[in-house]
Amino acid sequence: MEEIKVFCPATIANVSCGFDVLGLALDSVGDEMVVRKTEEKVIRITKIKGQDLPLETNKNVSGVAGLALLEKSGYNGGFEIEIDKRIKPGSGIGSSAASSAGAVWAMNELLGRPFSKLELVQFAMQGEKLASDVAHADNVAPAIYGGFTLVRSYEPLDIVAIPTPDELFATVIHPQIEIKTSDSRKILKTTLSLEKGIKQWGNLGGLIAGLFQSDYDLIGRSLQDHIVEPIRSILIPAFDDIKTNAMAAGALGGGISGSGPSIFALSKGEKIAQNVAKSMEATYKTIGVPFDIHISKVNVQGVKKLA
Ligand code: ADP
Repeated sequence: MEEIKVFCPATIANVSCGFDVLGLALDSVGDEMVVRKTEEKVIRITKIKGQDLPLETNKNVSGVAGLALLEKSGYNGGFEIEIDKRIKPGSGIGSSAASSAGAVWAMNELLGRPFSKLELVQFAMQGEKLASDVAHADNVAPAIYGGFTLVRSYEPLDIVAIPTPDELFATVIHPQIEIKTSDSRKILKTTLSLEKGIKQWGNLGGLIAGLFQSDYDLIGRSLQDHIVEPIRSILIPAFDDIKTNAMAAGALGGGISGSGPSIFALSKGEKIAQNVAKSMEATYKTIGVPFDIHISKVNVQGVKKLA
């Protein structure tokens, strides 16, 4: 195989109670990318459609992640990358992660799969480091593994793939305002009360158990964040109304997607996810906030081959 076209999924990191450790991949929201082998041992980004992003290899996350893979491979050639960018950078649904994960997944396919998923996550994390100064894995892991993933540990890196109940859908609304990941991190406290910790790990355990057992009520009860959401939600217009109205429309629960400003809700079944979308749309239309909205099944495959 000389060339491959892949779908690079958007992802929701944190998922309420799983700050910095949990993430999930989306099915109908994502970028497309073409990667082809070249003779010269370099990585070239030849085309980016949809967004104004750097073509320089060391300034684009796909280039940086790709170089990390190329260095570890015994391959004497290189790669050319074309990106059709459909996920807006800075939206909180893993725009950079889609490119980092897509690039290394595609290269691994072209080389005959010499690397494991865990190794691909490690390469893709180098792209994340370029985007946000931190080599976090909570977006790239679900993009590569599919479904829900837990980053159990960073040292050593330990990713746990969590099963996804069949009828789980996500609704994500993206208010068109900019929040820098670095700013939304700066406002967080660095210490935690034992009381809040207990609530949080109770919910995280509950969510993981709910996913394993396809227990939608337990998933809903567990989708609560006592640590980050109360602080970060202040940066997002009408966050409380969006969430209250989504719950009234039947959502299991929800919260901030990644570092925001996108807000997500999980629902059982597509019909409820659509009603949740209507309630979110109505909330932002009333106060005049421009937005994008997505409804998607949870994607259990992660990055996938299109052609
Ligand atoms: P998101 O959470 O949506 O990924 P981030 O703010 O974490 O958004 O990352 C976006 C940053 O990464 C921007 O500064 C953007 O210029 C940079 N970047 C570099 N290459 C890419 C790429 N291929 N796709 C998306 N963002 C990229």
